[in-house]
Amino acid sequence: MPHKIPVGISRCAMGDPVRYNGSHKHSKVCTELLGHCFDLHAYCPEVAIGMGVPRPPIHLIVSDRLRAVGRDDPAIEVTEALEAYGDQIVPEVENLRGFILMQRSPSCGVRTTPHYKADGKGVLAHDSGLFTARLRHHFPHLPLEEVGRLNASSLRENFLTRVFAYDAWHRYVAPDLRPARVIEFYTAYKYLLLAHSQPLTRALGQFIANARMLGPKQFASEVRGKMMEILAHQASREDRTNALMHSQGHLKGYLSRAERAELAQLIEAYRQGHKPLSAVLTMLRHYLPRSPHHFIHSQVLLAAEPAELGLCEFR
Ligand code: SF4
Repeated sequence: MPHKIPVGISRCAMGDPVRYNGSHKHSKVCTELLGHCFDLHAYCPEVAIGMGVPRPPIHLIVSDRLRAVGRDDPAIEVTEALEAYGDQIVPEVENLRGFILMQRSPSCGVRTTPHYKADGKGVLAHDSGLFTARLRHHFPHLPLEEVGRLNASSLRENFLTRVFAYDAWHRYVAPDLRPARVIEFYTAYKYLLLAHSQPLTRALGQFIANARMLGPKQFASEVRGKMMEILAHQASREDRTNALMHSQGHLKGYLSRAERAELAQLIEAYRQGHKPLSAVLTMLRHYLPRSPHHFIHSQVLLAAEPAELGLCEFR
């Protein structure tokens, strides 16, 4: 990694004893593994609004709107305080390229927080905590993930891919939002996007071809949003194989018959699960210098993937 990417994280996941009962939920995956590539910035919204440790536990109820109230004492209400804190730290989050949040928390959950009926009995839905909802409101494309889900290597890889893309966008596109720059970025990601969803990538290509009426800022925002949405899909082996075959197609004219056959066999072995992705990528990269075409050299798909950076295995 050329630099550590700034990423927010729920403070209790760092091992800080800030939970309502004075405990923590340290995640070694976050601090020991992801800490290699992320510069982690810790936030505890409930402590930040002055609730203290220990504190009465809160939960979310659905009444006229979503409210954060005391689980055992409904007279406690911190809805507006939590939301105001989410608004207050916007300038800091502007500099973050992802956020790792504690599951099931009324403040920090991303998709697993129980939303209770107004009387507190019975769950109506599982969704975001109040702090996370404010993050989403201000930064709809910011990659978010729950701490627990990052224990699964495939979900971890997906989060890393999204954070790398969001970070790359901020370094290469955000300072210069001209449509040509946006299209150059999308073009470099094209085969990686295909590996995550062929239909959505084709739809994005059509959107770009027909978006001449949009202003540069809106165009850039729409493209970034659609790219982040595509990358949030898990890359399947079939879709990855398809993207690898597209890459192979660009190199074919520069390979001997025997080299072409060997590469095709390797891609097929990957498709069948007999060879790792890294084996195919290594061979593609080996042949890459033979092609004079910028398009294939620029493909992010062929750059180091999270598994090759040693970020997917953790015991
Ligand atoms: S889940 Fe969020 S609010 Fe709760 S202790 Fe952890 S950081 Fe603080």
